[in-house]
Amino acid sequence: MSRIPLVAGNWKMNGRATTAAQLTTDIVAAVPAGVEVLLCPPLVYLDTVVAASRGSQVRLGGQNLAALTDGAVTGEVSAEMLADVGCRYVLVGHSERRTLFSEDDAVVASKFRRALAAGLQPILCVGETLAQRETEQTEQVIDAQLDAVLSDITAEQMSGVVIAYEPVWAIGTGKTASPEQAQAVHAHIRARLKACFGIAVAESLRLLYGGSVNADNAASLFVKADIDGGLIGGASLDAATFLAICQAATAK
Ligand code: PEP
Repeated sequence: MSRIPLVAGNWKMNGRATTAAQLTTDIVAAVPAGVEVLLCPPLVYLDTVVAASRGSQVRLGGQNLAALTDGAVTGEVSAEMLADVGCRYVLVGHSERRTLFSEDDAVVASKFRRALAAGLQPILCVGETLAQRETEQTEQVIDAQLDAVLSDITAEQMSGVVIAYEPVWAIGTGKTASPEQAQAVHAHIRARLKACFGIAVAESLRLLYGGSVNADNAASLFVKADIDGGLIGGASLDAATFLAICQAATAK
């Protein structure tokens, strides 16, 4: 089954309104066909990106959402608010959220359900630490992270869900998983999805690789059978680099 590749830029907590507008404008001007391109700016710059990408095919996503519904929840942003300003996607369970903000599997599962309830497409991030890889626990860790979130989700609800495999040891470190390492985990995730939701769902879902993807290594990762694009951190802050990564995904 052919899956439209997806390349998502996670800008994390970087930039200002002027740089967000310029980066968006530069990306919109040269975004290639044949790949879905998603920008996840800091929440306060969502409107800036909406304005600079109006009329383009570039999609908008949140980096985070509240685990709770609208109401007396100071400092949080709900799934419905993200949808309201034009987000189609939202990251859930990024390792920086899990580590820096102690988001456990239960919180990640709540956020995932909130995203679905608001009609957003969650991008569920999973990945092992270096110690877990070195002790051959990678598949076990990924399975536990998937099961904690997906165990009470129906096959119907899974349509539109994206899974991002992001080995923690590769995020922001300059150490990328080899294409073979990444493909092995992606194949494992797809097999797990097949066992849980059936072959049609498993074959339709996009699995992204994230972790120090750059313009030089993107093509060798994206060429692999079960890698349907990337979740890009640092390299998404430079328009030319990000566009080169998007271009690499069009060869799928
Ligand atoms: C990320 O934050 O999801 C990420 C993959 O970051 P980087 O590309 O910088 O490793």
